[in-house]
Amino acid sequence: MTRNTSLLTALAAAAMMFPAAATPAIPESFSEAARARLADAVELEANENALNVVYFVGSDREPVADYERRISELLLYLQQYYGKEMARNGFGPRAFGLIRKPDGMVDILLVRGKEPGEVYGYSNGGANKSLAEIDEFFKAHPEKKHGVHTFVIMPTLYNDEYHDEAPGGVPFYGYGKCCFALDYAHFDIRYLGEKSLRGKLMTKWYGGFAHELGHGLNLPHNTGTVSQNAAMGTALMGAGNMTFGSSPTYLTKASSAILDRSQTFARKGDKTEFYGEPQHAPTVSEASLVYKDNALHLKFRLHGQCDHVNVYMQDPPYVVNRDYDAVAFTADMAAPAEDGSREVSLTIPRPELDGLKMDDKQIGVYFLQHDGNRFRWNTEFKWSEVSEGTSIPLNPEQPFKAGY
Ligand code: ZN
Repeated sequence: MTRNTSLLTALAAAAMMFPAAATPAIPESFSEAARARLADAVELEANENALNVVYFVGSDREPVADYERRISELLLYLQQYYGKEMARNGFGPRAFGLIRKPDGMVDILLVRGKEPGEVYGYSNGGANKSLAEIDEFFKAHPEKKHGVHTFVIMPTLYNDEYHDEAPGGVPFYGYGKCCFALDYAHFDIRYLGEKSLRGKLMTKWYGGFAHELGHGLNLPHNTGTVSQNAAMGTALMGAGNMTFGSSPTYLTKASSAILDRSQTFARKGDKTEFYGEPQHAPTVSEASLVYKDNALHLKFRLHGQCDHVNVYMQDPPYVVNRDYDAVAFTADMAAPAEDGSREVSLTIPRPELDGLKMDDKQIGVYFLQHDGNRFRWNTEFKWSEVSEGTSIPLNPEQPFKAGY
């Protein structure tokens, strides 16, 4: 008892010494539902940069009532989710940074558009139009920009088709370093997981909010292996936008490896210049991909700077938004040899790919550099041409720079 008390006293003293700690107290204005959701909050590591959170409204609109409290609650709960998943995957309790106001609420930047809300609709190219105006806002207020990743939240359109019971009509996707989500009157954490229409809408739009933010933080689509999905549910960057908050939803280790080198996740003191011109493209040698004992064995020697190697297996077509099925792995990297090169290896048991039904396969190897740049290297093959002992020819083309 005494020991616990003195530990608590020590923690309280530490908290007072560092008022800008990553996990300040829950704001006074937070709802009971949010307090309950944040009751098991973990202390997150402090960030060097932060996500810009912009609430963008058309000139004929006001923000949806109580948006600061509702969006702050949703962002802090999501920050905890990402932090806990990063810790579970071995990267420490780290999440995207958020700027907090003195009262603990998230500093959400309200940007008012020059034109009516409809002009910024999904079908009007509202993403580009709003981003251009947000850019102007940051040029006029450079002190409000805390990193290169920006999350834009717009209220639903209100017309014959869209309203608070059927929100929509505004941009809703990840877009380079930006992503879009929407707001509506019942977008409130108290409905999360509720078996009601508002509960269903909440999973749809909050799951989407969590998933699109993942894209805006550099994440591609992916899913886990058969056994990971059985144990942990649905990958957030797979179909997790439809399960988040209502059934178990997780981040793959491959997603965490990418976030490890995403600018908003950088630890306090990490002064890396993210996403600049890559200094050294990685190259591979002595590469082999062999099918043996019901598993694919990938092995190669890696030359050049690289923090993580992810491997994705998927069915065709191999294009964006048809890649939800990409089963993600992180490869093992041995300690550097004398010349700095490292041996990289990965074993993929075939039963773990049972969700992939087609004969054609692509194996995509992603090289994640310290400054967040990534390179990829793809090889395609057919299962029907593979049997015990087959050595699958790897594409001779070396890793090429991949965009986001
Ligand atoms: Zn997506």
